[in-house]
Amino acid sequence: MRCEAAVAALREHLPAHAVLFDAEDTRAYECDGLSNFRQLPMIVALPENEAQVMAVMRVCSRLGIPVVARGAGTGLSGGALPHPQGVLLGLAKLNRIVAIDPQERIAVVQPGVRNLAISEAAARHGLFYAPDPSSQIACTIGGNVAENSGGVHCLKYGLTVHNVLAIRGVTAEGEIIEIGSRALDTPGLDLMALMIGSEGMLAIATQITVKLLPKPLAARVVMASFADVESAGAAVASVIADGIIPAGLEMMDQAATRAVEPFVNAGYDLNAAAILLVESDGTHEEVEEEIARIEAVMLRAGATRCQVSANEAERLRFWAGRKNAFPAAGRVSPDYYCMDGTIPRHQLATVLSSIAAMETRHELRCMNVFHAGDGNLHPLILFDANLPGQSERAEAFGAEILELCIKVGGTITGEHGVGIEKIDQMCVQFGRAELDAFGGIKRAFDVQGLLNPEKLIPTLQRCAEYGRMRVHRGLLPFSELERF
Ligand SMILES: Cc1cc2nc3c(=O)[nH]c(=O)nc-3n(C[C@H](O)[C@H](O)[C@H](O)COP(=O)(O)OP(=O)(O)OC[C@H]3O[C@@H](n4cnc5c(N)ncnc54)[C@H](O)[C@@H]3O)c2cc1C
Repeated sequence: MRCEAAVAALREHLPAHAVLFDAEDTRAYECDGLSNFRQLPMIVALPENEAQVMAVMRVCSRLGIPVVARGAGTGLSGGALPHPQGVLLGLAKLNRIVAIDPQERIAVVQPGVRNLAISEAAARHGLFYAPDPSSQIACTIGGNVAENSGGVHCLKYGLTVHNVLAIRGVTAEGEIIEIGSRALDTPGLDLMALMIGSEGMLAIATQITVKLLPKPLAARVVMASFADVESAGAAVASVIADGIIPAGLEMMDQAATRAVEPFVNAGYDLNAAAILLVESDGTHEEVEEEIARIEAVMLRAGATRCQVSANEAERLRFWAGRKNAFPAAGRVSPDYYCMDGTIPRHQLATVLSSIAAMETRHELRCMNVFHAGDGNLHPLILFDANLPGQSERAEAFGAEILELCIKVGGTITGEHGVGIEKIDQMCVQFGRAELDAFGGIKRAFDVQGLLNPEKLIPTLQRCAEYGRMRVHRGLLPFSELERF
């Protein structure tokens, strides 16, 4: 009855084909890239413009129906996992590049525009959009904003949060909200910082203004081989300590290079225990000088081999291997679980050794391929969901990695967000005061709690259950649970 009433109300504003409720139509939306969590939504709504988004939000607010936004569904933390009694709001049809202003170096785009499409459109002006997730061919800018996505070039050019100037959105009640501006600073509270990375829990982004940067004249990449993972980790810290900020600084261990090479023919050194890809960009002179410095640092740090990309085709081939590492995991294992923790760079060697020890303990293999310069790890835990106990062991392995990241002074996510996947680890990362503050901000934007409920911010009750009454830095007394 509730579904029928909602479908009827939504169809007053959207054409019938844009409001789906049959399981065979909604099945395509049951999960995102974190496919071990699946849930059919009650309804899928596919608006084509902002007015329709407003109408959907107004209907849902009136009827008290949860709403989960979805871009391309490439998220890896279950952020776009539907709510069983909710509307899945697909934004892929809002895919227009509204304007590109080469003078101001900005692009104004709708949320369903693919990340790569922005750089493709800006290329004729000699400009590009810097944050480049490996999923950039498919993921949308709306999803990037919601997850504060990163990529290979974010070490030098910053994450999504550093490259977005303004967001226009629709609130939980269906009103327009304008955040940020084309100027570098705006008066008032910094709502932009709250919106970016808020995982669809504060408002629906309907128009985004991003910064464009001039395309560097030249770029070259050094591929350095190491006999052990620890010395590759130490080399990463040495690059930064030497005052170099490379355009990209990525690491792949041998399990990753061996999975990728037959798939992409990137030219990787398969005898190396780990390789680093270190890119320099700028003018031709800057690149030549920096590449020589990078090579010197690599050799001093114990690299057994250094190869500099000889031309643009070779540079792109080196990166193609890195960018295809996740899909390549599918060649060597029926299932893989991609983790996303961040650690201080100087802890890389220690943490990678601990992950190797966990492989033995959990009896599962792991490939490491990650944004080493940012200290952003992506261990890919390989498992077979059809074998009894392997999924559970993979999840326990992942949780142990995240909690190790916290222990060494890092965080439970670098770019993939918390979603449903890491909600328990939020209880380890944060204490009661921080979680209360998050909850207060959520309520200020969304008093009914309808936008992407049960994601990102755990209740203290959940934390107490997860941590056997331990929330953070000690025990949570029963008295503190009374409010729940
Ligand atoms: C092979 C592969 C490689 C990847 N590599 C990277 C990488 O290098 N770096 C990286 O950061 N991520 C990476 N990801 C993760 C993923 O691509 C990013 O998180 C991306 O930003 C998700 O975009 P999407 O359009 O698919 O969003 P979705 O998965 O559809 O949604 C993600 C979140 O955003 C919310 N959302 C979506 N649109 C809106 C909107 N308009 N308004 C408000 N909320 C919204 C959703 O509710 C959800 O919480 C990778 C994923 C895959 C599968």
